[in-house]
Formats: sequence, C-alpha cells, structure tokens
Amino acid sequence: MLNTFKSETLYNQALSVMPGGVNSPVRAFNGVGGIPLFIERANGAYIYDVDNKAYIDYVGSWGPMILGHNDPDVANAVINAVRNGLSYGAPTEIETKVANLVTQLMPSIEMVRMVNSGTEATMSAIRVARGFTGRDKIIKFEGCYHGHADYLLVKAGSGALTFGHPTSPGVPDDFVKHTLVCDYNNLESVKKQFEQYPNDIAAIIIEPVAGNMNCVPAKKAFLQGLRELCNQYGALLIIDEVMTGFRVALSGAQGYYNVVPDLTCLGKIIGGGMPVGAFGGRADIMMQLAPTGPIYQAGTLSGNPVAMAAGYATLTKLMEVGIYQELENKTAALADGLLAVAKKYNVPLVVNYVGAMFGLFFTTASEITSYQDVMQCNIELFKKFYHHMLNEGVYFAPSAFEAGFMSLKHTDKEINHTIDAASRFFNNLV
Ligand code: PMP
Repeated sequence: MLNTFKSETLYNQALSVMPGGVNSPVRAFNGVGGIPLFIERANGAYIYDVDNKAYIDYVGSWGPMILGHNDPDVANAVINAVRNGLSYGAPTEIETKVANLVTQLMPSIEMVRMVNSGTEATMSAIRVARGFTGRDKIIKFEGCYHGHADYLLVKAGSGALTFGHPTSPGVPDDFVKHTLVCDYNNLESVKKQFEQYPNDIAAIIIEPVAGNMNCVPAKKAFLQGLRELCNQYGALLIIDEVMTGFRVALSGAQGYYNVVPDLTCLGKIIGGGMPVGAFGGRADIMMQLAPTGPIYQAGTLSGNPVAMAAGYATLTKLMEVGIYQELENKTAALADGLLAVAKKYNVPLVVNYVGAMFGLFFTTASEITSYQDVMQCNIELFKKFYHHMLNEGVYFAPSAFEAGFMSLKHTDKEINHTIDAASRFFNNLV
C-alpha cells in the first residue's frame, strides 16, 4: 500500500475550503476512487508527492510539460523575466516574438491573440466566428471538451464526462440552443445539421485528436470532409489544438493531418507550464477584433511577460530537429510494449496514439474511433489498473476519459518500468 499520510492530511484540510479539495475537478480522484496525491515538486519525467514518493508522470500538468518538468532553459527564461517585474499591462517585445513563432509554426495562423487559458481561447474564437459570419449556431462533437464556456458544456468530455454531468447544470437552455452536437468521426451527422441549417452555422469546433474522452484520433477523411462542408456552407472551421498543438507535431494536428482551419485555439504547451492560451487564424477574421474591429475581447494579464518567456523558451526548444520523431518513437515503444504484455496474458486492450499523446482502453473491440466506442470500455478494470500502476510509481490521469502524455524526458527506463508494472497487473488478472 502507498504511504499517503501527508497527502491525506493536506487533502482533508483542502476539502473544507475548496470544493472537492481542488481547483480543477479532474485533479480529484473521484473518477478512480481514493485520495489525490499532493505534489511537492517535479523534475524530468517524475513528479514527487509530499510523502516523498517519485512517480513516472504521464499527465505532464495535463499536457504542457512536453520537455519534461523543470527544464533548465525554461526555468531560466522565467527567472530572468521575473527579475524585470511580473506584469505591465503594456506591449512587450516577447509577445511579438511568440506570435512570430506561432505564425511560422502553424501557417494557417496569420494573426494571433494571447489569452490566459484554453477556455478563453475557444470562447473568444467562437465569438469572433459568430461576429465574422453574422451567424449564431455552432457544431461541436459529443465527448469533445473545449473548456467550460456555457455553450460548450454540452455533451462535453473531460471532468464533465468523468463525473457524469456532460451537460452542466447552471447553463440555461437559452444559452445552448445554438450548440448542435454531432458524432465524432461521423460526417453524415454533420451533413444533416448543415442541410437543416444551411445559413445559420457560424463554425464547427473540433478536437482533431480527441483527448478528453481518452484518446480518439479523427480520421483524416473526416477532418477533410469538415473542411469541405465549411467551404460549401460558408461556415468557419475551428480546430481546437489546445491539447494537440506542438504535441502531435510541431505544426499541430493541422500539420499532421494536412487540414487548414480558419481559426485555431492553442493552450497548454504554448505557455510551457504557465497560464497561457491563444487563438488565431485568417487575418481578415482576426482583424475584426478590437481595436481594429468591433468584436470585443480583452485580458488584463494576456501576453504576460513571464508566461511569454516560458512559452518562447519551450517553443524554441521544440524546434530542434528530430524531436517529434523521438517523441513518437517513445509513445510507440510504450504502446507496443503494453499491447505485447496484454496479449501475453489475454487481456483485451486497445492503445490509440498520435505523436506524444496516447490512450489505453480495456475493450474487446478491435478499434476505438467514437464516443460510443469509448463508453463500451471496461471502466472498473481501468480503476483497478490505475491503482496498481500508482502503487508501482506510475502516474496516469485519474480518469478513464483522459489522454496520456509523453515527454522528452521519458527514457527506456521509465517506459520499461511502466510496461513491467502493467505486466504484473495483467498477470494477476489471469
Ligand atoms: N480545449 C481542449 C482541447 C482542452 O483539452 C482543454 C483543457 N484540457 C481546453 C480546451 C480548456 O483549456 P483550459 O483548461 O486551459 O481552460
């Protein structure tokens, strides 16, 4: 059994002053049972809890830590920025430097605006899409999570799904009446909505690799089909790359799949672990934003110099040649290893992965391509697997509906330990 004495003490203190003891629901262990680990520090591929145990970390702060924790270049960039003051609320050169990098790495982004979270990025992208097209309706997909803006918390993934409230109370019906929900990887379901509302749909928003209902990659033909439908009906395609951006490829999922969106949402890696989001795309659309246009969007701390320093250092490091091949090789080694030991002990397992993002599914199905497929998986078995792995010092996201993340600091040692630990679990099931 794990010694979680200090975590338990801190958790009990937290419970009385914060709902669920946490500031973001998925951090609680309600999806797998047990108490959340309180973390003291992190380095490389490891996080260390307050009871002084090290864990191989496949959460990576839910995506940002692709370089591994505590990267010295990112840490130094932040420390240097801090010495010059934390925030000015006035323009700085580093904002343009980050914007230049983003537009260079994702050519569909001609202009960009920084915000403070992924939620703000998707919320603002949808506002600008509605303002630009003069239309109200949007299409999202069941099981995709795009942050917690009211009209996006409809049949959502992530914590909303884990805790059984994919459509949140507190969101008036009037606010969601313009949100149309379609089936992931099912073009027909999208066509139907366009046929019903040919002139009313402002935008489609999609996770190009869904990472909030575990990990479900979009099929290339599906994404291309969405692009064509948007062209045909005058709607905008918004690719939510908050999770996939700079993770599945340097150019994001849009580069990986070769699909050009009108608008892109970014978050997580772009801030290197600091609170940053961004949205951007076609210049004619972005120019509609205040102060050049009438669509309002703003932020006291947006483009914060310390956060921009972390993002800039992270992105420049990621531009080194070969990094994404290395990341994909690591993910492939983990996936292949887990599948091999599952096969050895006759445990039905499917592993999906794209670049440095993966998902494990306990299922007899041959593939997982939709929300419905995900819901058929054996969640009870996942929970047991989860606690076994935690005991063995492997930290996955505490939910069967979240993707796993590889970092550059995961070496053969960590990957093999993960596979061996899983092997012991599968062996005990026999
Ligand atoms: N979009 C996607 C695809 C996400 O995965 C997330 C967060 N996991 C968000 C938006 C919201 O980002 P944030 O939590 O920074 O508001």
